[in-house]
Amino acid sequence: MSDIIKLLPDSVANQIAAGEVIQRPASVIKELVENSVDAGATEIKIYIKDAGRTMIQIVDNGSGMSETDARMAFERHATSKIRSASDLFALSTMGFRGEALPSICAISQVEVKTRTENQQIGTHLMIKATKVESQQPVACEKGTSISVKNLFFNVPARRKFLKSDNVELSNIMREFERLALVNNKIRMSIDTGNKTLDLRPASFKQRINDIWKSSLDLQLLPIEVDTALIKIKGFVSRPEYARRRNPLQYLIVNGRNMKHPYFHKAIVGCYDSLIAQDTQPCYFLKFEVDPDTIDVNIHPTKNEIKFENEQEIWPILHASVKAALGKFGAVPSIDFSLDTLPVAPLREGELPKKPSLDIPEDYNPFTGTVIGDPNKQFSGKYNEKKIKINENWDELYSNFMKNTRGFGFEEKSKEEEDKLPGLINDTKNNLLCLQLLDKYIVTTSREGIIIIDQRRAHIKILFEDFKKNISVRQPSMGMMFPDSIEIDPSLQESLEEIMPELQLAGFQLEYESENRWNITGIPSYAVNIDARDIILGMLESVVDSSYNYGTEKLNALALTDRLAYIMARQGAVKYGQKLNETEMETIVSNLFSLGEASYTPKGERIFTVITESKLNSYF
Ligand code: ADP
Ligand code: MG
Repeated sequence: MSDIIKLLPDSVANQIAAGEVIQRPASVIKELVENSVDAGATEIKIYIKDAGRTMIQIVDNGSGMSETDARMAFERHATSKIRSASDLFALSTMGFRGEALPSICAISQVEVKTRTENQQIGTHLMIKATKVESQQPVACEKGTSISVKNLFFNVPARRKFLKSDNVELSNIMREFERLALVNNKIRMSIDTGNKTLDLRPASFKQRINDIWKSSLDLQLLPIEVDTALIKIKGFVSRPEYARRRNPLQYLIVNGRNMKHPYFHKAIVGCYDSLIAQDTQPCYFLKFEVDPDTIDVNIHPTKNEIKFENEQEIWPILHASVKAALGKFGAVPSIDFSLDTLPVAPLREGELPKKPSLDIPEDYNPFTGTVIGDPNKQFSGKYNEKKIKINENWDELYSNFMKNTRGFGFEEKSKEEEDKLPGLINDTKNNLLCLQLLDKYIVTTSREGIIIIDQRRAHIKILFEDFKKNISVRQPSMGMMFPDSIEIDPSLQESLEEIMPELQLAGFQLEYESENRWNITGIPSYAVNIDARDIILGMLESVVDSSYNYGTEKLNALALTDRLAYIMARQGAVKYGQKLNETEMETIVSNLFSLGEASYTPKGERIFTVITESKLNSYF
């Protein structure tokens, strides 16, 4: 057989790479603005046409490129930012892969005008699907202007994959906000055709206010911590300002936006008893760490960054947020000193570090003496302790984990759980139910004891009920005194997207004036709901949520299911809510009359069964 392996032409290879780097217009903006930042620009202007479909233009006053560099920049793996792999550990630039420009030019028509300080005349380049179509001298300002036209013109599948203009625009605005926040010293403007924003160089705090133009100002508590390991600077919101929707949460490390669920928990954990359960604080924190202690070389579109010292940073972060809350009277006084830092929780599947003992290097474990100093004796006890820790630590710990996990709640397979338990009624034909810790309903069945999470169970019941209702157009009930709702400008653009589902479900909205809508009708089958909250929840779920936590499962649901879920979540009983017998009975019997009752729409377990054999094993 003849040889069949061929190298892919560049145009194809670039198009494949583009699939990873450029997913939507907002990604083009991220890549190009980061290039302008790397080029030392002090002013960056962004122009958008048709939500980025027809044109995205970025103009900067940075270093510009020479004629050769301008052409080189569009080759694969062409970068001026690193020379060798070791440079990766001392990065001071946003880019380093040399992938963005070749990817962008593989899937669009690109026009570049660029000039360096030393050149009299600049370079004008036209590139279409990786092919340079023309290159000419041009008179232009110092800096670079890149226009990306007809994005995905040669990748119809990708073009189809784009969401409505409103959603894409809202993604663009979110990306702009992130970039503008990180680069507060740079003047940044955006013009989307129907909206313009021009942000002057400002302090970090001023930039926050310029972007979100709200009463946020008074709500921010400053944080400034300087340790050998990390510098943390920025703001967290007062507990009173916690939001249920779209909390503004930004973590920046060495000038880079990142998502870090572990640090996120350290921050929000400080608010535990201070804010309502389903609300979240806002935070804007900048970390500075030694570049060689983090790994930024992750997938180009991901923003998770690996920290070498995250276990040590956790308590510093936690303590400084607590201290900020304490200092400003947000919580009763808190003692903040670096000697009494809290202990970082373990991440899933992680074993704790071995405790370390200070043992001289020349210590001889067999004689118990320090070599070279026969007078210096170690007690036998010390000796024993050392050996024990070294040998058995991991094993001891894993046994401990096994024991705690096995206690009480027997892990059951999914099939087992899907079986409906045969509930036992008392002599008067009532279900026997007991509320535990104001959180669980305990009842019995032929198989053993069933423990049900009261909130999850109720969410599931309401979800199925609402889902059925929404599937047929529902009459809406007029409101005598219409509630009004203010929709954040960045969200307003997504409202159109969810309007059909809202109407199907029985909500009616009428536009009043700028940013304000009146809720004139609500579903007749759910008159006790807070319609505003539900509409805001839906809006939040359709905008880009890659920076929100824990909503992945929810976002996979169809819009109508999502609406049903959001309504159910609002209507369901809360933890801490006392339930009477009838309420408990209703929940239990409704839950088990559903075909599938094991998991909430978000995939959380609803109940567990302690079987008879498990019970017997305790005695
Ligand atoms: P990377 O940013 O990873 O180096 P890119 O493909 O984004 O890769 O850019 C390739 C190169 O083009 C950069 O290394 C830089 O030298 C040059 N370049 C890109 N954009 C600009 C700009 N706005 N101003 C000056 N140089 C730029
Ligand atoms: Mg780049």
